[in-house]
Amino acid sequence: MSRKLFIAGNWKMNLNCAGAVDLAKALVKEIGGADSVDLAVCPPFIYLQTVKAATSGSRIAVGAQDMFYENDGAFTGEISGAMLKDAGCRYVILGHSERRHVIGETDELTNRKLLKALADGLDVIFCVGELLAERQAGKTLDVVSRQVKIGLEGVDKAKAQRITIAYEPVWAIGTGVTATPDQAQEVHALIRKLLADKYGKDLSQTMRIQYGGSVKPSNAKELLNQPDIDGALVGGASLKAADFVGIVRAGL
Ligand code: PEP
Repeated sequence: MSRKLFIAGNWKMNLNCAGAVDLAKALVKEIGGADSVDLAVCPPFIYLQTVKAATSGSRIAVGAQDMFYENDGAFTGEISGAMLKDAGCRYVILGHSERRHVIGETDELTNRKLLKALADGLDVIFCVGELLAERQAGKTLDVVSRQVKIGLEGVDKAKAQRITIAYEPVWAIGTGVTATPDQAQEVHALIRKLLADKYGKDLSQTMRIQYGGSVKPSNAKELLNQPDIDGALVGGASLKAADFVGIVRAGL
């Protein structure tokens, strides 16, 4: 079964408003009509609506980098799924390694957010991945299994289709060191098996598992050619239009 490639740009806490609009417009010009891949950019919350307007009429969707698990109320500094929908978001990234390892978010918190995002009608980019020390200790598959199992607790088959899992080895994020295609494929195959065990083989084949971690135009093709790699989540290289366009073209 053919799966569409999904490529997302995580802009993190970068750019100002003018820079976000310029980047969005440059992407619209170059790849805004690409119809054989699904594309999204994930700017900081404060630029979501502006970037949504700049990408309007194109095939580039907009996603947020996080959300909270409550609807509304006294949660200073947080943002709800309904607010993200209101701002025009289709996607939300949850469980990113910087949320887990810089901010201290747990598997259980990520699961709570994920359930709420799906209930709110957002499609989820759910990130998992091991630390360098965990890989060196031979624990990669255990760590990723735990993250996937807890993260997807309570997610039924109908909603699972709206999840893209992003395997992002923490040691590869923003470091310039990329997992080799074999290293990435090994973990993607494990994730596919976990999905097959939980949701059945057919559904597991249609769920997207994307790789993230220092993806560049020069390494994108061989990663994307792996049988279980269905797309890319791109950080640093998504801040330069030419690099992000190069990665998307490698996937076409
Ligand atoms: C990311 O932050 O999700 C990421 C993959 O970053 P980079 O591409 O810079 O490694």
